[in-house]
Amino acid sequence: DLVVGVLALQGDVREHLHALAEADALARPVRRPEELDTVDALVIPGGESTTISKLAVEFGLLEPIRKRIAGGMPVYGSCAGMIMLAAEVLDGRADQHTFGGIDMTVRRNAFGRQVDSFEAGVSIDGIDGPPFHAVFIRAPWVERVGDDATVLARVDEGPAAGRIVAVRQRHLLATAFHPELTGDLRVHRHFVEMARAARAVD
Ligand code: GLN
Repeated sequence: DLVVGVLALQGDVREHLHALAEADALARPVRRPEELDTVDALVIPGGESTTISKLAVEFGLLEPIRKRIAGGMPVYGSCAGMIMLAAEVLDGRADQHTFGGIDMTVRRNAFGRQVDSFEAGVSIDGIDGPPFHAVFIRAPWVERVGDDATVLARVDEGPAAGRIVAVRQRHLLATAFHPELTGDLRVHRHFVEMARAARAVD
C-alpha cells in the first residue's frame, strides 16, 4: 500500500501523521535520507520554514528531497511546507533554502501583523463540498505562479480577499493554511488520491 512520509524536522508533524492515517494512508515520519527512500510521497508540515531549511541541510535531506521531487514524488506542503516547495521566497532569510518544485513566488508572513492568524472560508478547485474553514497562522501567500502551476484557491472574504492560497503543479500541492488542524480531511484525501494515481502510472 501507499506509504506517505511526513518530514519530521520541525512543525506540526503529529497532526499530519494523524490526518493521513484518518485518510487511509500508511503514514510515517521522515528524518533521515534512508527513511525518505522508503516512502512513496511526502508531506511537509507547517512550522517555521527557516528552521526546516536549516535542519534539512543538517540532516542531509535537502538534495535527496530535491532529487525525489525532480523524479516525480508527490509532495504536499502546508504553510511553511508551501514555502519549502516554492521556487522563490520573498521576506525570507538570506540563508534560507527551499526544495522548490513549484514555479511560484511566495511571501512569508504575508498577511501582516493585524491578521497574523485568522480563519476564512476557502474553496479549492477540484475538491467538492462546502468551503474549507481555513486556518492561517503567520501564513505566506503566493504572489506569482508560472505557466506550469495552477491556482486552486484564493481567499474569498475579508481584507486579504483575492490572495492566492493553494497551488498545484503536477505532483506537487501546496496550501497556505493548515487543514491538518481542523479535522477536515478533504485536502489529505485529495493528496492521497494524487499520490495513488501517480504510483499507478509508474
Ligand atoms: N511563518 C512561517 C514560515 O515562514 C510559516 C508559519 C506556519 O507554518 N504556520 O515558515
